[in-house]
Amino acid sequence: MTTATTNCTRGRLDGQLLVPGRAGYDEARTVWNAMVDRRPRMIIRCASVGDVVTAVRTARELDLEIGVRCGGHSALGLAVPDDGLMIDLTPMGGVRVDPVRRRAWVQGGALLGALDRASQQHGLATTAGNVSHTGVGGLTLGGGMGWLARQYGLACDNVVSFEMVTADGNVVRTSRTENPDLFWGLRGGGGNFGVVTEFEFRLHPVGTLALVAEYTFPLERALPVLRTWRDLNAQAPRQATFTASVERGDLVTVGFVWVGDPEQGRRLLPAMRALGRPVTERVFVSSYVELQRRDDTVGRHALRRYSKGHYLRQLPDKAIEAFLMRGTVDGHRENLPGVGLQAYGGAISDIADQDTAFSHRDTLFEWGTGASWTDPAEDQARKAAARHCAAALEPFASGVYVNALSDEGAEGVRRAYPPGKLARLVALKNAYDPHNVFHLNHNIQPDRP
Ligand SMILES: Cc1cc2nc3c(=O)[nH]c(=O)nc-3n(C[C@H](O)[C@H](O)[C@H](O)COP(=O)(O)OP(=O)(O)OC[C@H]3O[C@@H](n4cnc5c(N)ncnc54)[C@H](O)[C@@H]3O)c2cc1C
Repeated sequence: MTTATTNCTRGRLDGQLLVPGRAGYDEARTVWNAMVDRRPRMIIRCASVGDVVTAVRTARELDLEIGVRCGGHSALGLAVPDDGLMIDLTPMGGVRVDPVRRRAWVQGGALLGALDRASQQHGLATTAGNVSHTGVGGLTLGGGMGWLARQYGLACDNVVSFEMVTADGNVVRTSRTENPDLFWGLRGGGGNFGVVTEFEFRLHPVGTLALVAEYTFPLERALPVLRTWRDLNAQAPRQATFTASVERGDLVTVGFVWVGDPEQGRRLLPAMRALGRPVTERVFVSSYVELQRRDDTVGRHALRRYSKGHYLRQLPDKAIEAFLMRGTVDGHRENLPGVGLQAYGGAISDIADQDTAFSHRDTLFEWGTGASWTDPAEDQARKAAARHCAAALEPFASGVYVNALSDEGAEGVRRAYPPGKLARLVALKNAYDPHNVFHLNHNIQPDRP
């Protein structure tokens, strides 16, 4: 038996080795999407960088497929390899903040909530997503959109350095000056190049408060409302992120989330009120930490899930109509998936497109649809409705967010990265992972064996 494998099996891990039948195994292989039910041959619950090195080397020695788990939110459950080795980073969930230098050092298995809580103790934050049980790992490596992105850029734009374990089991650091090619690729290229064990983030003095404004209209009155809301978005300050959604009951909600002084945010309310008379109006001040947890229940674990996304560079009236109709077939609107729009722009588009692997910085809105249900008998119908809904918006799409991909395969990866970017990502993959050891992701395939 080789050293790495012996280290695992003789209990020389700081963390834990789980195999089928062992207590904790089923819990560790359970991820966000309840449709995922795969059984790894072994799960290494890593508690240190050394454990990650051992895990990568063990998988390579035993020729096992590797899945890397942080928050477990991958729509396809890519963290869980059937009969492979799952590198479970969840024990590495720590966050350390230096409030004077405005930096956070975040372990590779941390959840967004841990980052937000630690930073907010000092009135600081960096861009993180909208559901606190999402992993910092997957979110940041794909880009990382959140309520602060229009002010401070995406999560990946705020990374100062990464520590990563390579496909050979070596530990490397990367920043703008150290291995800059890798630094470019880790900011948007996903989990293709190695296992990130630490992220160093820049933090910003955002205060601790947010303002949320939501106005709900019946579908039949929504078209002019959406048009005006879109036009207002063009003038919106960076503290505001405009949102719109269509949910069950054909109710259409538009509004914005403001991070910063709520009184300043209130200056947008008269324009919102001029949209028309809503069925309901909700305007409330929230703590930033509470805002970051607001969608935790809607986005909870244990449901069957299917989702699709598009980036939109423009939102013409026809796209608004398609958004409202949600892919309706023959007037039937039961079981239609929920749809949403979230504004991009601001600091996201200040950064030059070639600066990071993340692409489509000229996006105006991200469109997304998500279906959730519990009965396996509904799987096909629910997926078909979501696909139909996405197809209706596709003519207006300019690309897709890699973290919004589900089962699109190589075609999805080509939509996430324009050809020049993809070529550069392939060159980086050739250099760091020529054997495609890390392929359970939205895969950049090396062009060398
Ligand atoms: C409920 C919900 C809400 C979401 N909200 C947002 C949002 O507001 N903004 C946004 O931008 N996205 C959002 N997303 C999308 C999210 O960014 C992706 O699903 C992302 O992949 C989740 O990362 P994870 O670590 O939780 O998932 P995991 O399934 O654990 O990881 C996904 C993939 O990321 C890679 N990976 C994860 N951690 C590491 C690591 N440390 N080193 C190397 N590779 C790693 C692996 O390839 C892994 O397969 C949301 C998703 C869900 C389900």
